[in-house]
Amino acid sequence: MKKIAFFCIPAHGHTNPMLPVAAELVQRGNKVRFYSFEEFREKIEKTGAEFISCDRFLPELNEKQKENLKNISQTEMSIQDIRITLKMNDFLEKEFKEFQPDVVYTDSVCFWGKLNAWKFNVPMVVSTSTFAFNQLSSQYIKNTPAELADMIFGLPKISKELKTLEPYGYHVKNTLSLVQNDNSTDCIVYTSENFQPYSESFSDHYRFVGPSVFSKVLPNKKKDRPLVYISMGTVINDRPDFYKNCISALKDMEIDVIISCGNAIDKSSLGELPENIKVYNYVDQLDILSKADAFITHCGMNSVSESLYMATPMVFYPQTGEQYAVARRAKEIGAGEMLTDDSVEGIKKAVKTILDNKNYARSADKCSKDFRSCSGTAGAAEFIENAPNKSNGYDFLKEVNKASGKFNIIYWIVACILIVLFGVFITWKFTWIAGVTAGVFSYPFGRAMQKKMYKSMAAKRSGK
Ligand code: UDP
Repeated sequence: MKKIAFFCIPAHGHTNPMLPVAAELVQRGNKVRFYSFEEFREKIEKTGAEFISCDRFLPELNEKQKENLKNISQTEMSIQDIRITLKMNDFLEKEFKEFQPDVVYTDSVCFWGKLNAWKFNVPMVVSTSTFAFNQLSSQYIKNTPAELADMIFGLPKISKELKTLEPYGYHVKNTLSLVQNDNSTDCIVYTSENFQPYSESFSDHYRFVGPSVFSKVLPNKKKDRPLVYISMGTVINDRPDFYKNCISALKDMEIDVIISCGNAIDKSSLGELPENIKVYNYVDQLDILSKADAFITHCGMNSVSESLYMATPMVFYPQTGEQYAVARRAKEIGAGEMLTDDSVEGIKKAVKTILDNKNYARSADKCSKDFRSCSGTAGAAEFIENAPNKSNGYDFLKEVNKASGKFNIIYWIVACILIVLFGVFITWKFTWIAGVTAGVFSYPFGRAMQKKMYKSMAAKRSGK
């Protein structure tokens, strides 16, 4: 029996996949203490874990901060994460001394979980509710200009805030070292190796266990007419304009439609509903997905994983860079199409495309089978119980970088020779332009070489 401390931020998308893992660990005879927030008390207590309420440590937020968090500002999230860590310091110090956990299982962006595991030297396993991101897989992310500006202008603010942690014994180099996991940290990722982009580039400290869900239900699509499900998740879901367009687009089609609109909007503001469309604030998403034939989704990692688990093809409508990465990968495997036009006509066309072409459903079904063959919550529980997990020490990404680094050196040797030849035979006056051009092209060249090396080394490794 192990004593395991769970830590998570107050967010459904991050908490939900940890719940079946908690239930599994409790069932195997471990003692699980889950540090979370009142909103999740009921769900957590149902797993058999001991719920510890942390609401009193949440800072009072002004309107601007609330708005920033609603728009998933990484800067605001990091700053608030740091402030909560400080507010929880005395409490968690006592808890760690009294409970003496054998393992900490913490969400990847829950700073107080990670920082206290390091401070008290307790083996840590990280729960990754998105894809695992490193130099290669993060290339799937396409940040919006607002996200980029937030990141660039937010860095100095976060660095300043990080300094406040030092006197309390939390030593952090920079935000990236807090948010991103390296190849020597034990991590659980709720997807399959096949679906994770560049999965080979992660060490054996990463365990891809497949979607973490309670449902053992199999997809069952038999019914009189197709069912379309629509949800924008639990965070950026205040989109009455979009739901209204969906209603207008789908009201005359021979289909049933269920919309989960979240708690931010009043259902009645969407007007009178046609007989084939139902709107709810919150639904049992897995149950609906098991019957649905198409899902218009904001592409949160949980929603897309659950959709694929239930063999439901999708219309992708991502709102953030990270959601775009999930959409891009799901499109790559043929399980849906991007919604490039969110007008009434655009939505109608996208839904028809998914319903009319059975290849989308076939691809989703193939992925469902792959997900169901993963080790699941039992695999996650075993990995947590065995933390710190032993590793063969092989770092594939390091090898890829070494191999592609050689090509970068060759690139610069050739570029320098060309610049000198240009200077000698044409003119020295404009060699600076050639230098700048070489510099600009070195980045995409480096990335392309890294990808090429990854592909050939991964193929060699798997014997293809
Ligand atoms: N969810 C649900 N019912 C709803 C809407 C959402 O059960 O009506 C769940 C959904 O099953 C998923 C989570 O909320 O597990 C949403 O997580 P996701 O990562 O997709 O998006 P986020 O809400 O974090 O943006």
